[in-house]
Amino acid sequence: MTARRALLALPLLALGASRAAAQAAPPAVVASFSILGDLVQQVGGSRIALRVIAGAGVDSHHFQPRPTDGQALRGAALLVRNGLGFDSWFDRLARAAAGQRATPMVTATDGITPISMEAHHHHHHHGGTERRTQHSAGPRRVPDPHAWQDVAMAQRYVRNIATGLASADAANAEAHRAAAEAYVRRLAELDAWVRTQIATVPAERRKVLTTHDAFGYFGAAYGVTFLAAQGVSAEAQPSAAAVGRLIRQVRDENVTAVFIEGQGNQSVLERLAREAGVQVRGRLYADALSRPDGPAASYEAMMRHNVTLMVAAMRGPA
Ligand code: ZN
Repeated sequence: MTARRALLALPLLALGASRAAAQAAPPAVVASFSILGDLVQQVGGSRIALRVIAGAGVDSHHFQPRPTDGQALRGAALLVRNGLGFDSWFDRLARAAAGQRATPMVTATDGITPISMEAHHHHHHHGGTERRTQHSAGPRRVPDPHAWQDVAMAQRYVRNIATGLASADAANAEAHRAAAEAYVRRLAELDAWVRTQIATVPAERRKVLTTHDAFGYFGAAYGVTFLAAQGVSAEAQPSAAAVGRLIRQVRDENVTAVFIEGQGNQSVLERLAREAGVQVRGRLYADALSRPDGPAASYEAMMRHNVTLMVAAMRGPA
């Protein structure tokens, strides 16, 4: 080969290499549910190809994956789950999809000390009737999985996600870390905003009644009491005595913040509100984002929507 030919070949080789880099598909990342998916997308941006299994408006607690959902996990570079029992169906999908080598999995709640909740809230569909009537015997307590409802915990989620992305997509590790830090700063501002908003409500009025017990972390972080709408959920039929107690509590404590939430049947809460003489003040988003044209299309939008509604309703009647 002459020197001249070698020189001509070099630019062609370089062009080929840059084409290959530009055409390399971004690594596939699969998140179990919509809120987690948004946190992952905020960090990974266009550097990743994200797939969310339980999408907008889908109840993750009772999610039944289809066989095609399992296909999505095959060949993924990274899987992201909430953990704490919220999305154990995702673990089963991951096990079923695992080939020779299991795909790395980020547990977004890693490092979080969970608070606990009564088991029946999220297992009522498995026939928890007898448990609900045995409160005096001491209900079983399990870790509360809804940690994202505390924005400080969501920052932990983002850092865990960034660590996983940086290791699964090492070529872009710095970009993932930088995006995560910028997002964490935004979430710190969101956390401060939530505190400012709640502070405008007199302390004794910081009470909310809603359908499903998803706000334990929110309540603990921001000083709001969520009336245990225990059993008042899509699947459960609460006892007349339980409904009666809640109605008395809403009346006695002058609770004006009453919300539907989630995807299920809201008739029990609506009846309860009617009998207590209070108005349902809208819909909160707890476990899933809204569709893109809805009020909770991202994690940040969801928190702002919920807090704005709660604060107005806690202050007094509409
Ligand atoms: Zn939930």
